[in-house]
Amino acid sequence: MAVPDRSAPPKGPPRVLRGALVWLRADPFLTDPAEALVHVPDGAVVCRDGLIEAVGDWADLKGRLPDGAAVTHYPDALITPGFIDCHVHYVQTEMIAAFGSQLLDWLERHAFPAEQAFADPAHAAMVAKVFCDELVRNGTTTALVFCSSHPQSVEALFAEALSRDMRLIAGKTMMDRNAPDGLRDTAQGSYDDSKALLERWHGRGRLGYAITPRFAGSSTPEQLALAGALWSERPDVHVHSHISENLEEIAWIKNLYPERSGYLDVYDHAGLVGPRALFAHGVHLSEGEFCRCHETGAALAHCPTSNMFLGSGQFRVFDAKRSDRPVHVGLGTDIGAGTSFSILATMGEAYKAAQLNKTSLDAVKALYLATLGGARALGLEDRIGAIKAGNEADLVVLDPKATPLLKFRTERARSIEELLFVLMTLGDDRVVRETWIAGAKA
Ligand SMILES: [Zn+2]
Repeated sequence: MAVPDRSAPPKGPPRVLRGALVWLRADPFLTDPAEALVHVPDGAVVCRDGLIEAVGDWADLKGRLPDGAAVTHYPDALITPGFIDCHVHYVQTEMIAAFGSQLLDWLERHAFPAEQAFADPAHAAMVAKVFCDELVRNGTTTALVFCSSHPQSVEALFAEALSRDMRLIAGKTMMDRNAPDGLRDTAQGSYDDSKALLERWHGRGRLGYAITPRFAGSSTPEQLALAGALWSERPDVHVHSHISENLEEIAWIKNLYPERSGYLDVYDHAGLVGPRALFAHGVHLSEGEFCRCHETGAALAHCPTSNMFLGSGQFRVFDAKRSDRPVHVGLGTDIGAGTSFSILATMGEAYKAAQLNKTSLDAVKALYLATLGGARALGLEDRIGAIKAGNEADLVVLDPKATPLLKFRTERARSIEELLFVLMTLGDDRVVRETWIAGAKA
């Protein structure tokens, strides 16, 4: 993917954000959370040409700011890395909050009809704009996105994201069976379309392509094999799919692929499991499947609002992150089965999912999943996910006093960990005061 040329002399005017800074420098599932969290109570971030040029204490940096630096001071705010949504369907934006069904029925009754409308490029462009507006309103600066099976839906989203200089990864949904007319493609056609889109968009601005078979149930073995062939030709792109979301779905996949040892093995056999492959859900993965994700570097997106909404079950985040075989995990909103674009709200629901598994997800671990953990799941930790010199300047300015209740509660927080926990439990888009993308206010 293209990144700004770091060896070139700086050209643009420097922008400085001053305020409390919070980010992760290590994985708190594997190290002491107090060591993993960085908190600078009065800090500064110097941004120039889309990158973070310097970060540290305001007292240290203020005398060394570059000429012409424009400083914005946020005395009551908390500045974090931009949030990362590791799994979301932009083509389901308009059918969020659809009543009354579980996964397979929900797909047929709600998701597929909404996606059929994306044959129309004007509709796709309209929804792409609404979708990117929602990402920004919620402080999400990077997302891994499902489009529909229509190439024009991918064109529309990439064009919108490029105009905003967002680091966004997306792909055409591949589905050649068990889908209605107007959405079903063919194995060869989906390979050809995906390859053309990949060649046209991957690496433009901060965009990346993901080879995107919807899930094993809606792809033939031939289509999965061609998806794997495309990935072996272009291993620099991502793979994005779904896995082990719902028990009825898992039983169905077993029937469709009796020769495979399990759900992950269907993708593994097709050459679709490895670094930069990300599978949404994994609610019911086996021990062997967690081990296989660990050894290959494949990542999982934890989508708690969706799992609750569809009654799919609770992802076992502490099991996935077990220190003897940790798996990369990020958070996903999974709009439109998910119920909020807010990664803060998703962190709060991840806490509740963990509670139902009799484990407690503290705010440091949740913030990790939302930022650095997501970046690692996507193989992008050298660019995003932390407030670090050299990283891309994607930042969120949070207002802990955004509502009367938040003000009342956060004034009583006695530590940064408690403040973060209150924000993830009570916070949502109202807390996001500003979103900065590539060093500019979005
Ligand atoms: Zn999904």
